[in-house]
Amino acid sequence: MQYRDLGASGIRVSRLCFGSLTLGPLCASLPLAEGAALLSAAFAQGVNFVDTAEQYQTYPYIRAALAGLPPEDAARIIIASKTFAETDIQAAWAVEDARLALNRNRLDIMLLHEVRDDADFASRRGAWQLLQQMKQNGLIRAIGISTHSAAMAAQAAELPEVDIIHAMFNQAAIGILDGGLPEMRAAFCLAKANGKGVYSMKALAGGALMHQAKDALLWAFSQPDVDAVAVGCRDYAELVTNLGWLAGEEPTEAAVIKHIDRNMVFDKEPRCHGCGRCVERCAAGALRLGPDGQAEWEKSRCLYCGYCIAACPWFCLSFC
Ligand code: SF4
Ligand code: SF4
Repeated sequence: MQYRDLGASGIRVSRLCFGSLTLGPLCASLPLAEGAALLSAAFAQGVNFVDTAEQYQTYPYIRAALAGLPPEDAARIIIASKTFAETDIQAAWAVEDARLALNRNRLDIMLLHEVRDDADFASRRGAWQLLQQMKQNGLIRAIGISTHSAAMAAQAAELPEVDIIHAMFNQAAIGILDGGLPEMRAAFCLAKANGKGVYSMKALAGGALMHQAKDALLWAFSQPDVDAVAVGCRDYAELVTNLGWLAGEEPTEAAVIKHIDRNMVFDKEPRCHGCGRCVERCAAGALRLGPDGQAEWEKSRCLYCGYCIAACPWFCLSFC
């Protein structure tokens, strides 16, 4: 396993970051023991970096996996979480919730989750200021933003308070907003020059690039200004296949990655009220309200992030 410093943050991470979204209720809904075992297997292979978020509901998996390690090894696992908090009170709650749920006195990394643009960042000023204060008080080691937007990544690259940028980046440029690969690359280059740590998300575009998974993964790891790549997996075969490819090996027959062709399932009748919350939540533009007033899904635009699932108060959406 290769390791890199996350910019000037003083945090050193494995180049493969375990993206935990896939474990939880927004995706595979693995039983607690199964998800924790997958994380433990990754730790045993040298992975020391886990990406999560309050919205993913995967803290219990991480806590269970950490509990299986000797305390000194558990302390070396770097956990990055994210919050949609807008106000200082919401951010304080998010940090406290993460500290308690993960059984950590100090958080490694806390990011503002999916910052869309200037206006969105400004609307979360209270939360951002609170994160800065908590870092000064030693409750968080590093702070920053996650974003799908190349323009926002470029802006964050010039903000002195930002330590870490976590951004959408994949071979097919799926899901990159306000620009494409050249703009996102330029933002990463600027971020590195300014001492930021950069780790990318959605190397497989949430599953849309599974048919070319090896190429897409190796491409993501070959990008010079990307310190680490968050990759989700839903079973042991995927994990060992990804790790094998990174080590220059071919997977064994027993660990052949499957082409996962997932579909959104709408349980619309009679529950979809056409409230539009899922549409509003989907930054990729993969959802809209159809002529019948109910939500419609456009598969080719979907990143399989699962955010819409959490947004629906009537639990109409799921993946199969
Ligand atoms: S429809 Fe949108 S919010 Fe839902 S999983 Fe796809 S990209 Fe994510
Ligand atoms: S959030 Fe749920 S109820 Fe509202 S439009 Fe979307 S699927 Fe329908």
